[in-house]
Amino acid sequence: MKFLKWVGSLLMAVVMISGCSNEPSNHVQGKLNVVATTGMIGDLVENIGGEHVKVTSLMGPGVDPHLYKATQGDVKTLDSADMIFYNGVHLEGKMTDIFEMMSKEKPTIAVTKDFTGDQLHKVSETEHDPHVWFDVKLWMVAAEAVKDELIANDPDHEASYLENYEAYVIQLKELDEYVHEEINKIPENQRVLVTAHDAFGYYGKSYGLEVRGLQGMNTLSEYGSKDVTDMREYLVENEIKAIFVESSVPKKAIEAVIQGAEKQGHSVEIGGELFSDAMGEKGTEEGTYIGMVRHNTDTIVKALK
Ligand code: ZN
Repeated sequence: MKFLKWVGSLLMAVVMISGCSNEPSNHVQGKLNVVATTGMIGDLVENIGGEHVKVTSLMGPGVDPHLYKATQGDVKTLDSADMIFYNGVHLEGKMTDIFEMMSKEKPTIAVTKDFTGDQLHKVSETEHDPHVWFDVKLWMVAAEAVKDELIANDPDHEASYLENYEAYVIQLKELDEYVHEEINKIPENQRVLVTAHDAFGYYGKSYGLEVRGLQGMNTLSEYGSKDVTDMREYLVENEIKAIFVESSVPKKAIEAVIQGAEKQGHSVEIGGELFSDAMGEKGTEEGTYIGMVRHNTDTIVKALK
């Protein structure tokens, strides 16, 4: 019931907002007005759109996309956009209805729309891992989708979008090589990445690390005391020296695991903070997608080498 009520008030809000604006186009000073969900997607669109787009990302530093609910302000922002880009694969699980509603009015595009079944990691019969941005090669597929959609919706600037895309893909290829080289510096038996939730499946598979998350793929599911015990035993048995906290997940659970291991005489360090589902503050290294992947890689290598 609560949900229906919520959808009802959301519809009303949209009707009211649409009623107010009679402008045929929402172009901001001649720029395409694009709204992205996560910072990573916003960064991708900015890199490819360049001077022809104005990008607003709804989810800032430290924000967990699995739990994120659109505010009334977000609905307004989405309603005034020319185009919307989101991750899909159910990352923004609580925004599904809004995307469906917006898709009737404007291009509303999942950057993962062209991913094949082989590229997506299956986690159950019906679920796939949404954290695709940590395989840099897959992010290039997302980049291509963004390029194609920008061109389709703003063909006047095709040449510019194509040029920006090609330049950015070169940077992504360099990043991909960098991560491979760096991870190879970790002794093979130490290539284990333990984090608060399972955000690094694609990263692990691409770059050769075993990954374990205390919480599952989705932070919606609570971890229990059994998860903490299992993880503690895993750390002790495998003599794992460092585990990692994430900027968008509370640190309490990881701290409980460390304390548990210490009681059994096995000392584990916090290897550092990783940026998993949200980028860092604008103006810092982690405030861009490339910087975020580099920061994570450097942090992991430094702690496990
Ligand atoms: Zn996640």
